[in-house]
Amino acid sequence: MTDTSNWRERAGRILLDPADPDGEPLTTPLDRRWLWRIEQVIAINGGNDTMRQLAFDLKQYLNETCEHHWRLYAREKDIPSHTQCLWCCTVEWLEQS
Ligand SMILES: [Zn+2]
Repeated sequence: MTDTSNWRERAGRILLDPADPDGEPLTTPLDRRWLWRIEQVIAINGGNDTMRQLAFDLKQYLNETCEHHWRLYAREKDIPSHTQCLWCCTVEWLEQS
């Protein structure tokens, strides 16, 4: 049986959303989004040591080479205002706590 469906039907927001959850334009290239998707799927579905090592190495590579997409977070109670990357989750604090 030939699968005639299209990858776009299963792609989800990580691949196809033109905007981030705040509605800001998301310009991360599709190839890069695919790498993040593959990393997430492997991390969740792990399997054997080879796959776990691949997930670890891919995550390290993606973090090292991330072109950050910053999301702004206003101060909330004890958490100072900050920006956080949608992809690698790096945080930059905008004020002292
Ligand atoms: Zn990043």
